[in-house]
Amino acid sequence: MNKQEKTHYCEENWYKDTDVRYEKINKEQWSWVLEQTWHASEIEVEDGLAERAGEIISTHTVLISYCPFCGEKLTEIEENTW
Ligand SMILES: [Zn+2]
Repeated sequence: MNKQEKTHYCEENWYKDTDVRYEKINKEQWSWVLEQTWHASEIEVEDGLAERAGEIISTHTVLISYCPFCGEKLTEIEENTW
């Protein structure tokens, strides 16, 4: 079966802008990643960090093997769901 993107929906992750996903990280490789996207709020617009609310201030992507919120081994989810 072909690889496809997955999301680990985690009850321990209460950050709305943070996702734990399995995705392509370059032309050949896939990995579980922790992806955080910081969207500007009205406060950040007032502080001059962004022009509009909702604008992306920064994104971070980190390769991971375990969910940093619940500790589940993600590579096992990968194997069990194909
Ligand atoms: Zn988790």
